[in-house]
Amino acid sequence: MQMLKTHNKAFKIMKRFHYLDHSIGPLIILLGIVRGVVPFIPIVFSKYILSSVIDKQYKEALYYSIAMSLLFCGGCIISEWIKKIVTDKNSELSRKIEDIIHQKPLGLDYESIEDGKVIGSYTSAISALKYKGSYQQLVSKYSELLQSIVSFLVAIGLTLQLCVSVSISEYKILNMVTNPVVCVALILVVILGMMGVTGKAVKWSQNKISELFEVKLDSERRFAYLCRMFRDEEMIKTIQAYEAGKSISNLLKDTSKHIKENYKNEGKYWICENVIKASSGGIIVVLAYSLVAVKVLAGAIGIGAFLKYSQAVIKMNESLLAVIVFNHEIGDIMRYMDKLTEFLDMENKFETGSIPVEKRSDHQYKICFEDVWFKYPGSDEYVLKGVSCEINSNQKSALVGPNGAGKSTFIKLLSRLYEPTKGRITLNGVDIKKYDYKEYLSLFSVVFQDFGLFSFSLGENISSSVELQKKKVKECLTKTGLEKYEDRLDEGLNEMSGLEAYVGRDSSSSEKYSGGEQQKIAIARALYKDGAFVILDEPTAALDPISEYEIYQNFDSLVGNKTCIYISHRMSSCRFCSDIIVLNDGNIVERGNHEQLIKDEKLYCDMWNAQAKYYTAS
Ligand code: ADP
Repeated sequence: MQMLKTHNKAFKIMKRFHYLDHSIGPLIILLGIVRGVVPFIPIVFSKYILSSVIDKQYKEALYYSIAMSLLFCGGCIISEWIKKIVTDKNSELSRKIEDIIHQKPLGLDYESIEDGKVIGSYTSAISALKYKGSYQQLVSKYSELLQSIVSFLVAIGLTLQLCVSVSISEYKILNMVTNPVVCVALILVVILGMMGVTGKAVKWSQNKISELFEVKLDSERRFAYLCRMFRDEEMIKTIQAYEAGKSISNLLKDTSKHIKENYKNEGKYWICENVIKASSGGIIVVLAYSLVAVKVLAGAIGIGAFLKYSQAVIKMNESLLAVIVFNHEIGDIMRYMDKLTEFLDMENKFETGSIPVEKRSDHQYKICFEDVWFKYPGSDEYVLKGVSCEINSNQKSALVGPNGAGKSTFIKLLSRLYEPTKGRITLNGVDIKKYDYKEYLSLFSVVFQDFGLFSFSLGENISSSVELQKKKVKECLTKTGLEKYEDRLDEGLNEMSGLEAYVGRDSSSSEKYSGGEQQKIAIARALYKDGAFVILDEPTAALDPISEYEIYQNFDSLVGNKTCIYISHRMSSCRFCSDIIVLNDGNIVERGNHEQLIKDEKLYCDMWNAQAKYYTAS
């Protein structure tokens, strides 16, 4: 029952990826048949060759030998040729599947990505694919199964031919022993008995191996992470600064030892299984030769057929054993493949919506937060507590407040990385959930605090694409004060000759962009996207005071008539904004322009004075 379920799952996977290459299925069937039949060519011909030699018909024997060689070689060439095609197609297909896995997180809710579910499942899927769960292995195993079934059917036909051959010996005992019923019963009892023993041994060893599976996958994942740490520039910096190298190396050694022990244990089970398989095979060889010898002695078959029939019995046993072993191996492969399907079956919880967003050149969009409450998944505490506000279009707004007030969360909800737990956010009066997700996102140019630069060329980083409008890229560089790098646009971080890329590094000059420059590149990228809303989360945190001043001075030309929201801890930057929203503990506690808020002498005024004091003191 369990086995049927496993096969059912395996077929579902093959069906799932069948669309990627329709020719693999028929090729696998053809390969299985050819590989199942070809080994019988010498077995069948051996009878004719030996009989001709015994009868001193040497010329005939030579003809049979030539025919056998031609057929056998031809069969082998055809089978290898099909195998090569299948292998190439399979590798191509495996790459396509890997590509599907890599792309999957891009289409999933940010919520599940941030809470680690997706990344955990993604790394398990990749590890599984790497070790045993490849589509290639699955398909190859089914091809081997088909080969064993074909081989078994041909062998059973020849074995039956042996069994029914009538003995004509003068010794009654020989005739009795070689009687067809006795022969069939003998073969059945011995082969089924051996299969029972071997099947149990294989099941036992495979169960033991599967017990090691999760531990093994976990250790391999940990090992891969630790190795990655030594390749990550930022990590290396921290490791060196805190002298953590030794302890990480020890961790790596321990994990490596653990993996080695795991493989050693796995190896022990494999050895036990193989010893039992080899012993049962040996017993069958003895049975096959003895039975055929007695049949020859009883005159049921000629001596020329000795090799043919004994090999047929041996082949029958081998192919039956292969079917049994296959059943267990497929269970093992499917354990890995389950990780893959688990990941690929992950679904989005959020509504994606279908309403198109109205494109407006005047950028007049009205955003409203209507009694928005929000708590992060897995948390009981509300981070936003009934926030209601309207974001004025074509205006610059600042979100300020102490750490943890909920400013970044506000932006995450606005850019649909999360959905409100209660309440709603509307765009021109329609719940933002109802809009087509991609169209809605196209309205926003966001620079997050932890913006990520790609290991591509400067130009590609700004355009977020391999296709870029150079003139527009140059304009964005100029606006953000990076015009000196205009001539570096094409210099390729994308030509990394197989090495791991370093974020923000220009490969031709080997120069690294400073933190401030990287932040400017991220701002230039937002400008290039040209969304109706520009959202900057701590946009100038890494900039020096002069660059920061320049950015704010140029803010009007930077964002034009777009709606701009930015979060900053530097209160001085709020003066550039006509609308300041003050958040505290998940609530909007004040709103107005700088002068009004200072006059109110509340939280904003306190924060302003605290920072002003700090600046004058220093
Ligand atoms: P701010 O940007 O005002 O500093 P945030 O919006 O980043 O504040 O965070 C508000 C609160 O939400 C903080 O208490 C923070 O610890 C919590 N928080 C932020 N991100 C997460 C998260 N992914 N999971 C759980 N809590 C979070």
